[in-house]
Amino acid sequence: MRRTKIICTLGPTTEGLCEDLIINGMDAARVNFSHETYEIHARRIDEFKKARRKLKKPVSLIMDTKGPEIRLGLIKDNTILKNGQKISIVNNDITGDDSKISISYKNLYKSVIKGNSIYIDDGKIHLKVKKIKDKNVICEVVTGGKISDKKGVNIPGCVKSLSFLSEKDLSDLDFAIKHEFDYIALSFVRDSKDILKVREFLKEKNSSDISIISKIENKQSVENIDEIIEYSDGLMIARGDLGIEMPLSQVPSIQKKLIRKCYSSGYPVITATQMLESMTENMLPTRAEVSDVANAIYDNTSAVMLSGETACGKYPLEVLKKMVDIIETTEKDIDYRKRFFAEDWLTRNDVVSVIGQATSVAAFELKAKGIVVVTNTGNTARMISRFRPNCPIIAVTVNSRVERQLNLSWGIHPVRTNYIKDIIKLYNNTMECAKSTGIIGNGDLIILTTGMPTGPKGKTNTLKIHIVGEDVI
Ligand code: PGA
Ligand code: MN
Repeated sequence: MRRTKIICTLGPTTEGLCEDLIINGMDAARVNFSHETYEIHARRIDEFKKARRKLKKPVSLIMDTKGPEIRLGLIKDNTILKNGQKISIVNNDITGDDSKISISYKNLYKSVIKGNSIYIDDGKIHLKVKKIKDKNVICEVVTGGKISDKKGVNIPGCVKSLSFLSEKDLSDLDFAIKHEFDYIALSFVRDSKDILKVREFLKEKNSSDISIISKIENKQSVENIDEIIEYSDGLMIARGDLGIEMPLSQVPSIQKKLIRKCYSSGYPVITATQMLESMTENMLPTRAEVSDVANAIYDNTSAVMLSGETACGKYPLEVLKKMVDIIETTEKDIDYRKRFFAEDWLTRNDVVSVIGQATSVAAFELKAKGIVVVTNTGNTARMISRFRPNCPIIAVTVNSRVERQLNLSWGIHPVRTNYIKDIIKLYNNTMECAKSTGIIGNGDLIILTTGMPTGPKGKTNTLKIHIVGEDVI
């Protein structure tokens, strides 16, 4: 059974395919708010939710914010920049050409100095700042090429005087609340203050139960990674922008470090961008791409993400199937038991952590068919997932949002139950729910992790080695 989760980005080419995507392994759907209108997003979300309801799968819904990104203004058709030429970035909005262009960030002249690099369109075009004259930034074209409307602009190392949440971001957050998104992925997070701003906003709107994923895509976020992990509910290694904002050759080592830091804290970590990029156009991925996906699995990533491959690619279903195949093949090659016992787990002195570790030991040594965990906030289930036990973790919860959020965590199969006051009935019901996943059946040895005596609302303190079908209490 596949443990690593898959996120698919919804877009023009997934329209009409949501059911097929869910059937073929999409664990979470991402909607990118850098593009398109609310009307289009609402329509796609509607289709997604219908499919999710019909198939009774707790597929997570993730909003990806636009955040403080910079984009080119409008550009005349067929504008080509030549190596060595000069170009002015002016401070007012114009339709740009090969002598002057405008960008969405109006304080550029205050934020850069001579020698800074400015990149356009995923790093394809490279400009170098030569001088600042009035409010214009005069650059030399180092690597030229074609430019067009609204392409992304990156300025590595530039501390932008842009507020973290723009008017658009705030109205996007309202949209996320209204449409019951489970996660918000924050673009260009810099430090814990950025995350706290979003938490405050969600709290004011009584929506603190929406989880926050910080996208790591600039130098500041890499430097502040510890505080960012502390304040987030998950990370995304957004290699697209990260690979421009930082030297590209550093991306693999940053990826490895961040995956390790994040998964050992218990939170889901997503490896994103260009994983199977060539399948946007082709039926088959490259060797390098297959290797990249497999290596993220070997690194212990919680989830992998498809961006343009599903959102605007030619083969959205084939790319998903390919992803599933690479994950399953790679996971079969990993000796999770060996890894677990070789790991120098920093013992944390809290009960949930110790129970999580003990649950994993028991599951490995008794070759359990599954771990059943009764979880209210999802925390206990994540504290087991962080140990990467090799059997499925069935997380039974009364909260449907927690159920969907857990669907993004490594190895977790969430299932919802109703709260019943009578403790015996409650546990019988829990076991019936766990069995309904088809993962465990009567006679199987499982590890049951729960809180006694108070049931789902109690604190986790109990590990029971249990034979399915026998009375729990
Ligand atoms: P984006 O984020 O697709 O919103 O740019 C991912 C990345 O930068 O890799
Ligand atoms: Mn990005």
